[in-house]
This record gives sequence, structure tokens and C-alpha cells, in this order.
Amino acid sequence: MAFVVHAVYFAVAILFILGLKAMSSPVTARKGIMWAGVGMILATLVTFIYPNTDGAGLLFFAPGKSINLILTVAAIAIGGGVAWWLGKVVKMTDMPQMVAVYNGMGGGAAALIAAVEFARGEHLTVIVSTLAVLGALIGSVAFSGSIVAFLKLQGIMKKTWRLPAQNLVNMILAAVAVALGAAIVLLAGNPAMPVMLVAFFVLSLFFGVVLTSPIGGADMPVVISLLNAFTGLAVGFEGYVLGNPALVIAGIVVGASGTLLTQLMAKAMNRPITNVIFTPITGEAQAGGGEIEGSMKELGAMDAAAMMRYAEKVVIVPGYGMAVAGAQHKVWELTKLLEEAGVQVKFAIHPVAGRMPGHMNVLLAEAGVPYDMIFDLEEINDEFPTTDVALVIGANDVVNPVARTDKGSPIYGMPILDADRAQSCIVIKRGKGAGYSGIENALFYAENTSMLYGSAQQAVADVITQIKTLL
Ligand code: NDP
Repeated sequence: MAFVVHAVYFAVAILFILGLKAMSSPVTARKGIMWAGVGMILATLVTFIYPNTDGAGLLFFAPGKSINLILTVAAIAIGGGVAWWLGKVVKMTDMPQMVAVYNGMGGGAAALIAAVEFARGEHLTVIVSTLAVLGALIGSVAFSGSIVAFLKLQGIMKKTWRLPAQNLVNMILAAVAVALGAAIVLLAGNPAMPVMLVAFFVLSLFFGVVLTSPIGGADMPVVISLLNAFTGLAVGFEGYVLGNPALVIAGIVVGASGTLLTQLMAKAMNRPITNVIFTPITGEAQAGGGEIEGSMKELGAMDAAAMMRYAEKVVIVPGYGMAVAGAQHKVWELTKLLEEAGVQVKFAIHPVAGRMPGHMNVLLAEAGVPYDMIFDLEEINDEFPTTDVALVIGANDVVNPVARTDKGSPIYGMPILDADRAQSCIVIKRGKGAGYSGIENALFYAENTSMLYGSAQQAVADVITQIKTLL
């Protein structure tokens, strides 16, 4: 029986890895999600039926274990039901919060596995108990940190707490948690063990809160990605403790991909990850930057329609505003009309446009925009000088030229889409509101830029109406 269990876990590992590989391209991403999902169902089933890899202690048949069966089925039903419902109702713009919650649950579960192993009081080898303690520490930090991240992104926790000597406090908390963890490993069987365990878990959870609280909303998705990597690591460690290969592989895959994603996001925002955690952007820094010259010029839907209708090439730059307005379907309708009129249309996607990586790609794919019309920053930036109209829809920071020019700006050095280098630029937004970083955008004041004020969906609908009169 153990052979069958191991064979299934091996198949699960392959499904996870193939699934992740397929998720690297929007064309195959759905397939990847399915494969990883099938892997997860298989792993859950086999663990449910054969909880130990040696085949002993079958959940169904072990005497006196019916309470486990009831608890397990209840947990699967409640967890699965809530996840199914959330998956259906959560809006795309609220996705980062949902990822934070799921991620927190993973970290918390890893920490609980360690708690149960220690509570059992069985003798664990030094290696196993070291990994259990590490997993518990990292999992607890990921759990409480993710809860704080969720509360911030959901707008429930509005304040950003920063203690005096915050970094010193962080270091002290980490050192005490590690010391307690070492004591738990080395003093196995000590009568003070329950007290040490409780102190260790409380401290680890508190550390997660203190670490995440000072970090501002703009950096939160990066932090969630980092906490996600933490969760992966914790799950991997606890997989080793339980002798469960599927858990080890799933943990390593999550840990590695979370780390890579964190690095990519930090690079795309030009914020080193240490900077995100230890020196978060403050209010003053966000307001910083030099004076911008010029004034904003408004144009109407008819003028915007004429500019695009008679252009040879239009590049559309979507941003967070398109997502909140749910304007992607209208944008696709506009694209089809322009193509009918013989205009070449392309989409330019910044890696952190919106509120999470791939946010724009998912929305455009949902509206039916073919993948071959969508281009990444490196692919499209050279094309802006030969573009007649850059149409910026609800994007702000990702097209702010001060990132190239103003060394005093908090976003200086962040790679941006060079919409300002197009022959002319039309920006759709509701008013003079700033972007996520809170700073003014020099693009809006540029000579070749015109502002089309309005909520993205309505503004694009107005342009569509006008273009139809020109066809
Ligand atoms: P921004 O948040 O910079 O700007 C969005 C703009 O959309 C605002 O200026 C707002 O202006 C406008 N807007 C809001 N609602 C509407 C609406 N209904 N219709 C039309 N316009 C609207 O978005 P970007 O996508 O340009 O940049 C993303 C930001 O998020 C960057 O700062 C990035 O660093 C940050 N970020 C992104 C992450 C990611 O992974 N994607 C991760 C972490 C941070 P107005 O109010 O005037 O309408």
C-alpha cells in the first residue's frame, strides 16, 4: 500500500510542477490551474484515505478514530465551501486581499502541524524538531502578517503603525523567538515545555504583526508575495516533519515561486525588498518630487474619437482605473472598431499595472482580447515614438515620466511605459486624483497630452459612440 501512496504523491508532484510551468503563459494558464487543482485533489484524497505513508492507521478503519473522520470531513466541507463561495463572489480588484487570506491560512496550518507534533510529546529527532520549530516560526509570521495585510488592503486597518526604533524591535523579537525555538529543540521533555511552546507561538504571531504593520498599502502586494514564499517554506518544513513528500514538494514550489515573484515585483517598482520591509514609504516621501511645469488640457469624446479613428497606430495602456471601472469589455469593443477602421492597435502592460502582477492580462483576457495584441514593457517601449496615439486608461504611476527624470521622486528609477514619447497621448481618468504612490504625474501636464475626464467605462463608451459616427 505504501508504494501506491508514494506513487500518487509522485504523480501529484509532477502535476504541481507542470501546472506551475503552464501558468507562466496566459495561453496555457487555465490548463495549469486545472492540473495543479487535480494534483491538490489527489493529494487531499490520498492523505484522507491513507494518513500515514506506511499504509498503517487507515483513517476509515482505525479503531476509535471516528472522531477524526468527522472532524476531517467537516474541515474539508467548511474550508472547501468557503473557498468555492469566495472564488465566485470576490471581485478582481479585491483579489490581493483574497490571496492574503489564503496565504495566511497556509502559514497558520503549517504552524498548527508543528504545534500538534510538539503537543503529542513524542520524541522527535533534533533535525525533525528543528524543522518543526522553523516551520512554526515562519508559518506564524506568515499567518499574522497576512491577516494584517488583509485588514490593510480591505481598508479595515487604515493606520500604519511605526514604532520608534522599529528595526531594533524587529531584531529583538526575532532573536527572542529564535532563542525560544532553540530551547524547545534542545530541552525536549522539560516540564516547562508547555509554557515555552505557548510563549514561542504568541511571540511569533506578534512578530508577524509588528513586522507588517508599518508597511504602507502600496507595498502590500509585494509583502503578500513575500509572506506567500514564507508560507511555502513553512509548509515544506512541516511536510518533512510529517514525512509527507507531496507537502514538501508543494511547499518548495510555493516558496521558490513566491520568492521569484517578490523579486520581480520589487524590481518592477524599483523598491529593493529590504527597503519595502525596513524603510516603508512614508507620507512625506510619497508627496515628494520636484515641481511640474505646464497645465492639463481637456478634450472631449469626439476629439478623442477623431484622433484615434484617423491614426495609423494606437497603443492602449490600461491601469488600475480600468479595473475598478470594469471597463475592459468596452475597451475591447473600441479596439475592434478601430481595427475595422484599419488602425493598428496594441496593448502595453506594465508588470505592476493594477494591484497585482498579471492583473491587466487577466482582465483583458476575460474581455476576449487576443494574447498576441498584448505586449510587455520591454517589448513595446521602443514603439511609442512611432505611435500616433497612446491611450492611457486609468493608469497613472506606471506612465509617470518623473520616474526617468526626477531623482527626488519616490518612484525614480521605476521602469515605466513611455506613453509620453508617443506623438500624442490621451489620458482617461475621473479627475486630478494621484496614483497609488500619491505623487503628481508629469505626463498629464505634457504638451502632447490631453485629458478625457470621466469614469473609464463611460468615457470609453462615449468615444465608441463618436467613432461609430466616423466609420
Ligand atoms: P495607479 O494606482 O497609479 O493609478 C490609477 C488611476 O486610475 C488613478 O490616478 C485614478 O485617477 C484612476 N482611476 C480610478 N478609478 C477610475 C475610474 N473608475 N475610471 C477611470 N480612472 C480611474 O494605477 P497604475 O495601474 O498606473 O499603477 C499601479 C500602482 O500600484 C503602482 O504604483 C504600483 O507600484 C502599485 N502596485 C502594484 C502592484 C502590482 O502587482 N500590480 C503591487 C504593488 C503596488 P482618478 O482618481 O483621477 O480617476
